[in-house]
Amino acid sequence: MPIHVLPEFLINQIAAGEVVERPASVVKELIENSLDAGAGLIRVEIEQGGKGMIRVSDDGAGISKTDLGLALQRHATSKISSLEDLQAVASLGFRGEALSSIASVSRMKLTSRTSGQEHAWQVSVTSGQAGSPVPSAGEAGTRIELRDLFYNVPARRKFLRTDRTEFSHIDELIKKMALARFDVAFELIHNGKAIRRLAAAPEPEQQAGRVAKLCGQEFLDHALLVDEQRSDLSLHGWVAEPRYNRAQADRQFFFVNGRIVKDRVIAHAVRQAFRDVLFHGRHPGFVLFLQMSARLVDVNVHPQKHEVRFRDSRSVHDFLYSSLHRRLADAGVGAGAMRPGTGMGGETAATNVTAFPRQAGLAMAVGEQISHYAQALSASGPGITQAPEGEEIPPLGFALAQLHGVYILAQNVDGLVLVDMHAAHERITYERLKSGLADDGIRSQALLVPVNVRVSEREADQAEKHHDRMLELGIECNRIGPEEIMIRKVPTLLQKADMKGLIMDVLSELTMDGESSRIESEMDEVLSSMACHGSVRANRQLSIPEMNALLRDMERTERSAQCNHGRPTWIQLNLQKLDQLFLRGR
Ligand code: ADP
Ligand code: MG
Repeated sequence: MPIHVLPEFLINQIAAGEVVERPASVVKELIENSLDAGAGLIRVEIEQGGKGMIRVSDDGAGISKTDLGLALQRHATSKISSLEDLQAVASLGFRGEALSSIASVSRMKLTSRTSGQEHAWQVSVTSGQAGSPVPSAGEAGTRIELRDLFYNVPARRKFLRTDRTEFSHIDELIKKMALARFDVAFELIHNGKAIRRLAAAPEPEQQAGRVAKLCGQEFLDHALLVDEQRSDLSLHGWVAEPRYNRAQADRQFFFVNGRIVKDRVIAHAVRQAFRDVLFHGRHPGFVLFLQMSARLVDVNVHPQKHEVRFRDSRSVHDFLYSSLHRRLADAGVGAGAMRPGTGMGGETAATNVTAFPRQAGLAMAVGEQISHYAQALSASGPGITQAPEGEEIPPLGFALAQLHGVYILAQNVDGLVLVDMHAAHERITYERLKSGLADDGIRSQALLVPVNVRVSEREADQAEKHHDRMLELGIECNRIGPEEIMIRKVPTLLQKADMKGLIMDVLSELTMDGESSRIESEMDEVLSSMACHGSVRANRQLSIPEMNALLRDMERTERSAQCNHGRPTWIQLNLQKLDQLFLRGR
């Protein structure tokens, strides 16, 4: 085929491939336009998860009759006009390709009225061709309605999920937008039913109210206010104390200059700040706003503008890490603050908390509990016991049984102890690896038969680059080909781990370029990943002596633990508590 320039319509459809992934991405672009137009109220109406219809109306500045056609053209924008503007862009849009792309994959009607006009004008687009404006009814502002998204791109249409799933993406997006702009009112309507109605929230209490509505009252109850400033960077918002934590990263909202972004530097800094107060595999919650001069961040790096690039990512990282770390420390979140029995945030909390009421007796810190038992023991002498005559009952008592392969039931002086086997073992392994690293290196053992692992070239590069740091971690691993590595030694504690999974995790944790100040904190993260691999999985049958050994290990580890993690490894149900549960009188 000879080379030829593609027709405009096809170019737009190609651009749409990047910009418009699903109904929610259309809604995102339209809301951004409304915000850029200074809207105070944005109404989003959806039919059939956005597959049937999407309509976004605002009370913003509107588009004049003469500009209506232009708005629909590719590379037509009112937001920038020079490279200089681009480098300091303050609006959400600037690429001038959203409307043209969306119009090329749907049937669109654009209705708008500026404050100076007598009435609104409407333009309909068919097959990418905009008709001429016709007079229409409507208040000042803009209304964009589109039907049959992807009607002409069957491949894309096929990829759309159920109405419910698509709508949940839209709802998630509205949440983000509503958190980004407290000054704007939002309405979300699905199939004629109002799903969300959020009044503008200019005052701090109203803002907190909106956060509670969108992130849950429980999040707000545990939230610490953040307000930090350093030269040209500022950070404010809410961060939940670590005992509110979640199985999924679904309460994490980070905005850079009002734009929701996914960014590795940010994610890493936040992870680090929580590293010693959150258990491996649990996720913190936060709604945070980072503000900086538009010149310090490049927003033109992603067609959907999901990513940004910082001019000086190092100082952004340090600022975020130190602000959050300090905030958590100031709030007294550190050693001793995480309480067994109350440490379960999010969904798990709901179930656990109803089953085991949060009472002071359950909510004692591990260290306190242990000294408490010691006292109780000396006061009352050995009572209920499986301990040999004359020996003290250890704080966590003796194992009775294993429940569903997940929990150990044990009896101690006070009553029943429930232990999360995997969490406990992981914690012990982590602490051991950590103290091994601090002392004279993690003890490792050569494998009888070295294990060859096929990896990507990039991973092999990483393995080569981090060879020495992996040695410190007790792992000897050499590159033996462009896409192959060989594992020769692993930490003794992790002998039974799945080698490949372990190495992959360690490599991915090590990929951030470790500068000296970060290495230490990074190592903890790596250790925590490693510990997960080396620990007993749920559903492993343990014998009574094995369970008792784990309980003894826990006591040793808990006593010496310098830091705590968000998830409890055990809880106590004392006899009094049990009596209450069964409504037994005293
Ligand atoms: P961009 O937002 O990158 O400029 P778009 O294709 O999204 O590109 O929109 C093109 C232009 O149409 C915008 O620059 C703006 O002038 C105008 N426009 C779009 N939506 C609205 C709206 N809701 N209110 C006012 N003007 C709008
Ligand atoms: Mg736009």
